[in-house]
Amino acid sequence: MDHPPLEQIWQAILSEAELNMSKANFTTWFKNSFIFDYQNDILTIGVPNAFTQAWFENKFSKDITQIFCKVTGNKLKEIKYVIKTKPKETQNAYNFLAPDPNEQKKDKINKIKPTKDESLCLAAGLNAKYTFETFIVGKHNELAHAACWAAIRQPGETYNPLFIYGGVGLGKTHLLQAIGHEMLRSNKKVLYVTSEKFTNDYVDAVYHGQGNTFKSVYRNVDLLLVDDIQFMAGKDGTQQEFFYTFDQLHRANKQIVITSDRSPRNMKAVEARLITRFEWGMVADIGQPDLETRIAILNSKCQQKNFPLDPSVIQYIATNINNNIRELEGALNRIIGFCQFHNCQPDLSITKQILKDFFIAIQANNLSTPQKILEAVANFYNLNLSEITGSSRKKELVIPRQIAMYLLRTKINASFPAIGQELGGRDHTTAMHACTKIEQEIRNGSKIRQDIEQIAQSITSVY
Ligand code: ADP
Ligand code: MG
Repeated sequence: MDHPPLEQIWQAILSEAELNMSKANFTTWFKNSFIFDYQNDILTIGVPNAFTQAWFENKFSKDITQIFCKVTGNKLKEIKYVIKTKPKETQNAYNFLAPDPNEQKKDKINKIKPTKDESLCLAAGLNAKYTFETFIVGKHNELAHAACWAAIRQPGETYNPLFIYGGVGLGKTHLLQAIGHEMLRSNKKVLYVTSEKFTNDYVDAVYHGQGNTFKSVYRNVDLLLVDDIQFMAGKDGTQQEFFYTFDQLHRANKQIVITSDRSPRNMKAVEARLITRFEWGMVADIGQPDLETRIAILNSKCQQKNFPLDPSVIQYIATNINNNIRELEGALNRIIGFCQFHNCQPDLSITKQILKDFFIAIQANNLSTPQKILEAVANFYNLNLSEITGSSRKKELVIPRQIAMYLLRTKINASFPAIGQELGGRDHTTAMHACTKIEQEIRNGSKIRQDIEQIAQSITSVY
């Protein structure tokens, strides 16, 4: 790409696309796509294959046009696609703007220990961006951070497994990968996988009769990092295989680190013997970052991108986005994209203008709707939506249904008849009874309260 700002524009588009879809989808479609050219108001996007191209044309052209226009202020006539391999990223291609006033801090970043070979990182499944050097520690993550270092210093000993949990976009993957980089530096054999990758590898291995290859990959590492283990819920065969993998590694004093969107206790449709094991070592949570930490994170991202921003601008972003670090980065990318395209430095009023509809978009995303509430409850209890709204009187459906009604009442103030309707046409007295019952449970300090807190948190998290 011989037009450097375009890459930043693409970053801005990526970070917004990422807010609106699942991680797996995002990686599949966007990882190897890039802006190939931009001339005469025609944007040409490079995609790895015809399949991706078709998908982009159908699903994404409109969004890309919109975001492009918001970020650059320019209208697009057309989006074209070419099938091309993504060129290697050129780092620091954009330092043609104002010098960094904070030279001291920049020096620190420049003195980052070299990570291992790119190919080694790649083989281990690690992204070069996610190291400890770029990870900001605040109150919300200090326990998890300390636990990671303890595990690095004495791998396979006290903190084994290390189980880290917390909401979406709060730094679990970053932290997990940082451990990987650190252990790779001391020549340990590292493997990072998402639980979906583990599942797919296992299913493939079974299908192709390559169980031994699978075992030799997963059971011969010094450090196994498994991201988003909650997606193993309900997958019995995979869980069983993971159980054996876990035990073998654990017995050999190899370190295992796992992340999840919830605590082991709150995992549903996961074998009891796995849950017990998740609690063997150390369980640490990551919470919401406070304002100071959000500011520190933004400053650090600006440094990495070599794009200093005025403190008032940083303060403004950090004050307006408070529950998801991925959104913070999205806002930052949009501003940087705009400024590089127009070769300007943003002041507060430009920033406000650029971010106006970004805030509206994330608010809309975070807004609770009856559908989102029902989905969150179903998801938490590993049920289908139709089971929650359906007529079956099975015992295991009673509490989730009542919680759904309670949340509809407390989160969006729905009327009792409306709640009855949402739940498949039940009577309003059923809804009233459910709310009273759940309130009582909460007062009595039942475990249901924790469940409700987690579900409520997942409703406001953006996927
Ligand atoms: P999660 O896995 O919990 O959904 P990620 O690890 O993907 O969240 O983090 C989302 C984004 O926020 C990433 O780009 C990551 O680099 C950034 N991030 C999260 N926590 C921190 C932190 N403490 N310091 C710096 N960047 C962070
Ligand atoms: Mg993650």
